[in-house]
Amino acid sequence: MKKLGILGSTGSIGVSTLEIVADFPDQFEVVTLTAGNNLTRLEEQIRRFRPKMVAVISPEGAETLRRRLGADAPEILSGVEGLVACACDPDIDMIVSAIVGAAGLVPTMAAIESGKDVALANKETLVTAGPLVTAAVKRLGVRLFPVDSEHSAIFQSMEGHRMDNVRRLILTASGGPFRNRPLAEMRCVTPADALAHPNWSMGRKISIDSATMMNKGLEVIEARWLFDVLPERIAVHIHPQSIVHSLVEYIDGAVIAQLGIPDMKTPIAYALSHPHRLPLNLPPLDLCGLRNLTFDEPDLERFPCLGLAYEALAMGGTAPAVLNAANEVAVEAFLNGEIPFLEIASVIRATLAEHEVKNLEHIDEVLRADLWARKQARQVAVKIAGRGQAC
Ligand code: NAD
Ligand code: MG
Repeated sequence: MKKLGILGSTGSIGVSTLEIVADFPDQFEVVTLTAGNNLTRLEEQIRRFRPKMVAVISPEGAETLRRRLGADAPEILSGVEGLVACACDPDIDMIVSAIVGAAGLVPTMAAIESGKDVALANKETLVTAGPLVTAAVKRLGVRLFPVDSEHSAIFQSMEGHRMDNVRRLILTASGGPFRNRPLAEMRCVTPADALAHPNWSMGRKISIDSATMMNKGLEVIEARWLFDVLPERIAVHIHPQSIVHSLVEYIDGAVIAQLGIPDMKTPIAYALSHPHRLPLNLPPLDLCGLRNLTFDEPDLERFPCLGLAYEALAMGGTAPAVLNAANEVAVEAFLNGEIPFLEIASVIRATLAEHEVKNLEHIDEVLRADLWARKQARQVAVKIAGRGQAC
C-alpha cells in the first residue's frame, strides 16, 4: 500500500490521479490533499477519499470547508504552512506534485527535504530551481518520477540504458491550436481559441503555454535538470499527432521512443507505481488506424517563447525563474483580456532583459527573483494594455 499526498488535487492532474487511486484501492491510500479555491470539488474528494489532513489557500476557505463538512472534517489547514504540512506528513510515502505554477515549488521542495519520493507534474519546480531541487534529491536519496508525458517517455526510453550513451533527447510537441496559423492571424486570437487544445485536455495555464509553445520551453528546462543533459543536446520536434511522447537518441544511432494514446493517466500511473505497470482501462493504441506520424522543426518566429526559454537556460541562475514568473503574469493578463496573445512573449522578453542574474545558492533567491519578475512583468503588461489592443 503506497500512501499518497496530492498537492493540487482539484486540478486536471490531481483529478486523474484520484481516478487511478479509486481504480486501485488496494495499492494506494490518500493521506493528504491540497487545493486552491475549488472548495466544492475538494469537499467531494474529502468525503470520498477520507484524507487525514487537507490544506487550501485561504483561512476563510478552510473555515468554509470545516463548516460544510462538520463532523466529517479532517484537519484543515491553510496557506503555505498548510501546503508544507500536507507535503511533509510522516505517514506519506510519495507526494504527487500537481499544483500549477511557481506556487508548487515550496511544498515540493519541503516534501523532498522530508525524504518523500515525488511524482512530479509541477514542471515549474524544476524550471525555477532545477539545480537546487536535483541536489536535494541526490543528497536525500529520494526519487523524482516525471509525470509530464514527454519526460515520462524519456524516462521510460532510458531505463536499462547508460546515461553516457545518450546523444540527444528529442521532446515532441503537438504544436498546439495555432500550429498552422500564420503570424498575422495569431495577433487577434482569443483566450477561447487558445484554450482549445487539439489533443490534450489540461488546466488553463498549461493550455495557454501550449498555444505559445512556452510549455515546450519549460519542458526543455525541466529535461535539462531531470536528466542532467546540456541544453544543446535537447531538441524539440513538432509532432501534431501526440502519439510519440518523446525520444532518446543514442551514440550508436539507435533511437528509442515511448508511444501511446494521449492520456495523462499513463504517465501518472507509471510515476505512482514504478517499476510496476498498472492495468489501466484505456483504449489501446491502434497503430494501423493511424494514417501517419509526422515530425517538423518548430518555427521560432511564430513561437518566440520557445527561444526565450533556451535563452533563459543559457543565462542560468535566476533567469529561468524570471522567465517562468513573467510568463505566469503574461498568461494571466492574456486570459483576462488585457494583452493580445503575441504580447505574452513581449512581456517575458522585456522582463528578462531587465533582470540581473544571480547564482542559485538557496531557494530564497528563487523566491526573490520570482517576486521581482512578477512586479516587473505586471508593469510591462499594464503598459502594453494601455496602448490598446491592435484588433
Ligand atoms: P490545474 O489548473 O488544472 O490545477 C492546478 C491545481 O493547483 C488545482 O488543484 C488548484 O486548486 C491548485 N492551485 C492553483 N494555484 C494554487 C496556489 N497558488 N496554491 C495552492 N494550490 C494552487 O493544472 P493542471 O493542468 O492539473 O497542471 C498542474 C501541473 O501539472 C502544472 O505544473 C502543469 O504544467 C503540469 N502538467 C499538467 C498536464 C496536464 O495534462 N494537465 C500535463 C503535464 C504537466
Ligand atoms: Mg508535457
